[in-house]
Amino acid sequence: MDFKELVKFFEEMGEKKFRATQVYAWMMHGAQSFDRMTDLPAGLRARLEEMQDAGLISLNLAMISNVQISKSDGTRKYLLMLNDGNFVECVFMKYKYGNSVCISSQVGCRMGCAFCASTIGGKLRNLSAGEMLEEVLVIARDTGEPVSHIVVMGTGEPFDNYENLARFLRTVHDEKGLNIGMRNITVSTCGVVPGIEAFTVDFPSAGLAVSLHAPSNEIRDRLLPINKRYPLEVLLPACRTYTEHTGRRITFEYALIDGVNDSFSHAKALARLLHSHVGKLCHVNLIPLNKVSESAFSGSGRRHATAFCEILEKHGIPATVRRELGADIDAACGQLRMKTMEQKK
Ligand code: SF4
Repeated sequence: MDFKELVKFFEEMGEKKFRATQVYAWMMHGAQSFDRMTDLPAGLRARLEEMQDAGLISLNLAMISNVQISKSDGTRKYLLMLNDGNFVECVFMKYKYGNSVCISSQVGCRMGCAFCASTIGGKLRNLSAGEMLEEVLVIARDTGEPVSHIVVMGTGEPFDNYENLARFLRTVHDEKGLNIGMRNITVSTCGVVPGIEAFTVDFPSAGLAVSLHAPSNEIRDRLLPINKRYPLEVLLPACRTYTEHTGRRITFEYALIDGVNDSFSHAKALARLLHSHVGKLCHVNLIPLNKVSESAFSGSGRRHATAFCEILEKHGIPATVRRELGADIDAACGQLRMKTMEQKK
């Protein structure tokens, strides 16, 4: 429930409106039981507990099933079990500018990207806004650290679950919620153009990352099936509109795949493409691909990635090779969940 719904909920229970303020604050601090809400009368706490026992409401939407902790930089990768037995992954990362959480938006994914483990079993279901929020709250509770940044870049295509995503973003941004500035939130899409258009209008202060991964339709068709629906000549103008409308720089994710999209002529073609369709307000984030055992692709070496990056920069496109956080726990995204699902079969 968002705050308004919680107000309505308490009014329908015959309770005062301010109870919603109290309970909402507890929820946002990750309270796991109504008993802990010591500023509520005992009778109300008991009623809420009863409703929870009857399955009508719930404070807990996920529990930690597994955590991998990087010894080198404190990155923590979580496997959470949802109330229906499904699993999702989320990651806690420490940066100089604050603590960032990467969350999943769906259980599985139907986008079919050729190099991705998360899509192998297809999409099982969307996550609710509450479940996305729970990913953040569970991590904040477990680490005992404040979360200042959120990236929606885990399993799932966020714009394939737009309504819940929007609800989630409004809740984390709400000052009664987690009060996280929109500028500290980034959503990543594989290129769902109607989602990009809606996001540009609805969340002009939030960051947008687009998984580009190719300098041509020919290569992108092979890697991201969504490209057949929204090819580069449709996708890139939508990206440009985002930068013009918001004044914000757009990030293009580019996974470097050995022998597929990582030649120096690909780098030059990419620079030309972005110059002509997007302009200067962009940044390319180069990621040497993580090896997924189910896929034939392997990543380019780090030195090659650096050379690719230099070509983009030389041609006026700002680019970086992604810093490797949590390299010692770096199973590719989706692998932890897949292994657990297989063990359960
Ligand atoms: S890369 Fe993202 S959008 Fe593509 S299949 Fe994997 S989870 Fe889905």
